[in-house]
Amino acid sequence: MEYAIKLKKQFIHMAILLGILILGLFALIYVMLIPNLKLYGKSDITINLEEPYQEPGYKANWLWKDITDKVKTTGSVDSKKIGDYHINYQLKYFGFTVNKKRNISVEDLENPVLTLQGNNPATICPNAKYEEEGVTALDSVDGDLTEKIKKREYSDKIIYSVVDKNGNRGTITRDLIREDKEAPTITLNSGDTIAIYQGETFVDPGYEVVDNCDKEVKVEVSGTVDANNVGSYQITYKSVDQKQNESIITRTVVVNPKPNNAGKMIYLTFDDGPSSSITPGILQILKEENVKATFFVINHGDNLNYLIKQEDMDGHTVALHSASHNYHSLYQSVDSFFYDFSLIQNKVYQITGKKSTIIRFPGGSSNTVSKFNPGIMTVLTKEVTKRGFTYFDWNVSSEDAGGARNASDVYRNVMTNLGSKTNIVLMHDFEGNYKTLNALRDIIREGKRLGYTFAPITTSTPPIHHHVNN
Ligand SMILES: [Zn+2]
Repeated sequence: MEYAIKLKKQFIHMAILLGILILGLFALIYVMLIPNLKLYGKSDITINLEEPYQEPGYKANWLWKDITDKVKTTGSVDSKKIGDYHINYQLKYFGFTVNKKRNISVEDLENPVLTLQGNNPATICPNAKYEEEGVTALDSVDGDLTEKIKKREYSDKIIYSVVDKNGNRGTITRDLIREDKEAPTITLNSGDTIAIYQGETFVDPGYEVVDNCDKEVKVEVSGTVDANNVGSYQITYKSVDQKQNESIITRTVVVNPKPNNAGKMIYLTFDDGPSSSITPGILQILKEENVKATFFVINHGDNLNYLIKQEDMDGHTVALHSASHNYHSLYQSVDSFFYDFSLIQNKVYQITGKKSTIIRFPGGSSNTVSKFNPGIMTVLTKEVTKRGFTYFDWNVSSEDAGGARNASDVYRNVMTNLGSKTNIVLMHDFEGNYKTLNALRDIIREGKRLGYTFAPITTSTPPIHHHVNN
């Protein structure tokens, strides 16, 4: 009995085990019959904006059979637009349906790109603030982010950074090299060579000094000029900046023997005036420089009479240059010449109360413009003297009615031709002749410096006469 029960129990155990085995077998067969869908790559993918989405692929099989072509995919990715996208993979086979999904997120992953203008590294002065040479930021999504750049300054670098809307940060660094290698620059006023005459006082015209890094740099000036002794002297200008960069520059001062111009005269003469634009300026300079001159006037009508009056009142010589300055009528005959001169003589007399007998021939006594009347100048140069006139030509021409183009031409033409004991200088007082006006003060000052004496022409001035050519 006991044995029978035992046997029965064993049978039941066997049956259960068998049942489990059979069930397991069926389950295994069932599982094996489900088609298999496998996605390659990750199921969650992040791609950058504009980056094309590339399907990593998939594979399907049923038992040993490849059924990849049975997979249907739906969904798409627009990589030009930020967002979340899904691709669905569906496999229907043998009565089974298998679904799989892939998530694709399109994001802005790119950092803004910063670009430096100017130097990197940039060399700047030790204590200077860096002067921004420019930086720009460009983002593939946000565009120009230059305005949003933030700067952090350190003594040896500047870090620029910018964050785009999606939180991507771009940075760039500019290195700063702080050094001062440049010496100060000294510029000498009035040039590096100055000439003075013995006995004059040397006044240093000074210098300008600038340094790339230091605001104030000192200049040490050394050397002396012994103006009482002819020779060449050196003045040294030395400047050192805070970084001990040093500049040295020298000026040569030449002390020349003073030319002996004692008793030598300059007679400044102004023809063809008066003129409203020039005469007042000439008179002003002559007054300031305390120099008397000679004006050979012509008739410009009564409006300018006040200038002739002023010339006389200031102590200048008002002399005669004809009324008309018309060569053709003047040199037509002896009578027409003297008639013309009587007109200007009377006019000046009416204005100044003085009967002037000092004259200058229009064109000078050497003129050839009168050749339409042969011999007229030969006659007139004698006749004027007989009639009580004294005529003056010139031996220094400023060329201000000829080749001189500007004040320095006028100045040079006069100064290089001085030398005789009597220097009668031809200049003009016609309207707009600013080159002479602008040269006048320098001519006077240099003339004085050279030891000349300025005087107005009088009847006792030694006459300067040209060779008569007609
Ligand atoms: Zn003239």
